[in-house]
Amino acid sequence: MYALSAEHEHPISRAFHVMNRNVLIAQPQWLGRDKMDDMRIAFASGKGGTGKTTVAVNLAYFLAYSKQQVQYLDCDVEEPNGHIFLKPHIEEMTPAQVMMPVIDKDKCTACGECVSHCQFNALVLILKDVLIFPELCHGCGLCARICPTGAIKEGKRVIGSVEQGKAFLNIDFVHGILNVGEPMAGPLIQQVKHNYKEGYIQIIDAPPGTSCPVVKTIVDADCVVMVTEPTPFALHDLKIAVSVAQTLNKPIGVVINRENGEFKPLMDYLSKNRLPILATIPEDKNIARQYSEGNIIIERLPQYIDNFMELAINIKKLLEIKQFR
Ligand code: SF4
Ligand code: SF4
Repeated sequence: MYALSAEHEHPISRAFHVMNRNVLIAQPQWLGRDKMDDMRIAFASGKGGTGKTTVAVNLAYFLAYSKQQVQYLDCDVEEPNGHIFLKPHIEEMTPAQVMMPVIDKDKCTACGECVSHCQFNALVLILKDVLIFPELCHGCGLCARICPTGAIKEGKRVIGSVEQGKAFLNIDFVHGILNVGEPMAGPLIQQVKHNYKEGYIQIIDAPPGTSCPVVKTIVDADCVVMVTEPTPFALHDLKIAVSVAQTLNKPIGVVINRENGEFKPLMDYLSKNRLPILATIPEDKNIARQYSEGNIIIERLPQYIDNFMELAINIKKLLEIKQFR
């Protein structure tokens, strides 16, 4: 690991210098007149394995190195892996809990009100007993509120944990870790997002796919960066992911990862749907090697700094266009 204080010896510092980007470092406002404070940039992908986390951590690193205050929130709680690259020093670990009903059998009259009102079928009345299926309970608390005899109290169930710390370049780092076999990703994502800090650019790594946890992650983002690959499978899943983000009325841009020549169906789709390409990252076995070793690409392969600078500038433009819509 390198010494953060020895900036002049830092590999990326040398790389910026070699590429004559020392002006960029000296001027934090390089993205325009204002810094990108308080912007929430979500990274999503319809399909797993497109390089979403790689792009997110490298952008976080690039921005932090450009003197921006960056917070990285890993909401991919079933399989968080941003920490592999950003290597945070974890300073605080908090158990994540959800409400779970606890039924006092002495007070229960077996009226069935709680069972019929639970939208998630987490309660079943068998003979005169109400049974709870914890994995189905969303912790909404409705049953406790409507029980006519006050037989339901609010208990707690641990679903995972939230860890916080500081990563490379003072990046504020938060991630959620869902317990193995636990289906309630949504409440844990919510708890990760409770740690939003004002004055920071927030880089939010969403889970892959298009299900409820993705919606929970991107719902309050300022824009969504879709990371895709030039393959038919990735395009299929990109279309679904875009439709989810469009339903939420989010500005969307696309990063094409592992580009190896024009993939016409993807270009046609982006053009038809007026989705801007924010950056492309070529297929390169050196990137794959750095990824497999848990390294930050732009630190080890400075020839890709331009790609992430382009991404940052285009995200800023995407957000400015949103302001004037
Ligand atoms: S609503 Fe209350 S009293 Fe009625 S079945 Fe449920 S726990 Fe029992
Ligand atoms: S807390 Fe909500 S989800 Fe859980 S059992 Fe009660 S009504 Fe159903």
